[in-house]
Amino acid sequence: MSDIAPSSQRAVASRAIFCAHCVAESTDRTPGAISTTNGIGRKFYGNAMPCPECGSVIRTLWWCFIEAPVIPLGSYRYKTLEPETYGFLGPRQQFYSRRLPDLHWQQIWPTWAIGTVAAVLAVCAIIAFGGRR
Ligand SMILES: [Zn+2]
Repeated sequence: MSDIAPSSQRAVASRAIFCAHCVAESTDRTPGAISTTNGIGRKFYGNAMPCPECGSVIRTLWWCFIEAPVIPLGSYRYKTLEPETYGFLGPRQQFYSRRLPDLHWQQIWPTWAIGTVAAVLAVCAIIAFGGRR
């Protein structure tokens, strides 16, 4: 529906958040607003290669269906500003992310495997419960 506006101001700000090394290995592209509705939408998964300088990690942005990662959209250098809070419709997570030029396949394969198994189980459960009606 709405396309992802290049939030260049945010990208420039992120250069100060990440260390020079992380800025150098990534691009100024940011993922825009991340939101999921009923488990369908874009979501970050993974946690790889923590940076010793600025503490950022590599996370991959996925298009998700019922919380299961389906399509890898891009890998990012990702840094949370506040401690992550989890809650039902909880506060929005404050984070900065900078897109890496390539997908981080080392992270994507296991995420995909786990996500696919979870999705298959979810679909089986839906069919099983649906069939009993
Ligand atoms: Zn760094």
